Amino acid sequence: MEVFDRPEFDGHELVSFGHDPATGLKAIIALHSTALGPAAGGCRMWPYASTAEAVADVLRLSRGMSYKNAMAQLPFGGGKAVIIGDARKAKTPELFEAFGRFVESHGGRYITAEDVGTTTTDMSNVARATRYVSGLGRAPGEAGGDPGPQTALGVFLGIKAAVKFKLGRADLAGLSVAVQGVGGVGYHLCGMLAGEGARVLVADVHAAALELVCREFKATAVSVDEILSRDVDVLAPCALGAVLDASSIARLRTRIIAGAANNQLAQGQDGTALSAAGILYAPDYVINAGGIISVAREYYGGATQAQVTTEIHGIPQRLTEIFERARRENRTTNAVADQMARERLTRRPQLLVA
Ligand code: NAD
Repeated sequence: MEVFDRPEFDGHELVSFGHDPATGLKAIIALHSTALGPAAGGCRMWPYASTAEAVADVLRLSRGMSYKNAMAQLPFGGGKAVIIGDARKAKTPELFEAFGRFVESHGGRYITAEDVGTTTTDMSNVARATRYVSGLGRAPGEAGGDPGPQTALGVFLGIKAAVKFKLGRADLAGLSVAVQGVGGVGYHLCGMLAGEGARVLVADVHAAALELVCREFKATAVSVDEILSRDVDVLAPCALGAVLDASSIARLRTRIIAGAANNQLAQGQDGTALSAAGILYAPDYVINAGGIISVAREYYGGATQAQVTTEIHGIPQRLTEIFERARRENRTTNAVADQMARERLTRRPQLLVA
């Protein structure tokens, strides 16, 4: 298995493979950078078609976490884990406990939490074997728990910042927003958008999730093939990565892209195509940092939900700074964000105040 020669390899510090025959666990942990602190990032459970596909994903996602944590000014490096398996069929408490042992074997260099396919219950099972886990249950008012709603809040505030910058409007009333994927993040995002009077279009491969948001928030369902090409003010990708490539960009009819999914651009140059098409792109790892902010606060302890909410309100300001700098320097927003993240990776972070 090639790792060092893969295009996704970016000087990662460590890539480790964990197997537990008793539970069927097959997992990979990638630490991209621990320069700013222990590598933190969620654990994704996904039925990858091959080990190579899983390796590519964990390499890309862990690098994204280095950038995300640096931009959110958290005392964390970047890491990620993937478990190869179908989250709807292959989960057992023992499997996640075995994954916890795998996390523990890294001696605190990697801290895990939820991502696509994993939940607070799964993290509780991970916590039986390691303390290097966050995103657990919490008492009312305390920081932490499921990061999905926190991510959704950051994305919602980020959409408002993008709308203000691009369309010169302070509210979302009457604007149309297409949300691709209405799972842990997309569901909460739809609620916030509907609450502000936006017209919400949704698509999901999971029929029950789609029905729920249509019923609860009066969202309009469209097909998964159509959602990216609808004529809308904002497109919010909240499913999986690499949805923006040459072919999908050619079909876009939106003015803003601002969503939760990690690694939305298939390649860096796709940001240039978006910019050429006059579409404002909110860099994914900046707008979707709400969840890791919550995870960080929970992990270090003693913080309240109110403090997490205040920190998440810093996301629109960071985005606006990126939008303005990109316009001033005639560069893409993703290039500006990447540069800012790399600069921060070489500086010491501000410490969290509990
Ligand atoms: P999730 O698994 O709960 O939800 C994803 C949803 O997307 C599911 O309902 C799934 O059925 C749907 N989906 C999958 N493929 C689709 C397709 N082709 N078209 C339409 N829908 C499709 O995951 P989540 O926690 O909501 O995360 C969503 C995205 O945001 C992921 O890319 C994740 O990495 C990213 N993200 C999540 C968090 C978090 O706090 N959960 C934080 C940062 C980034």
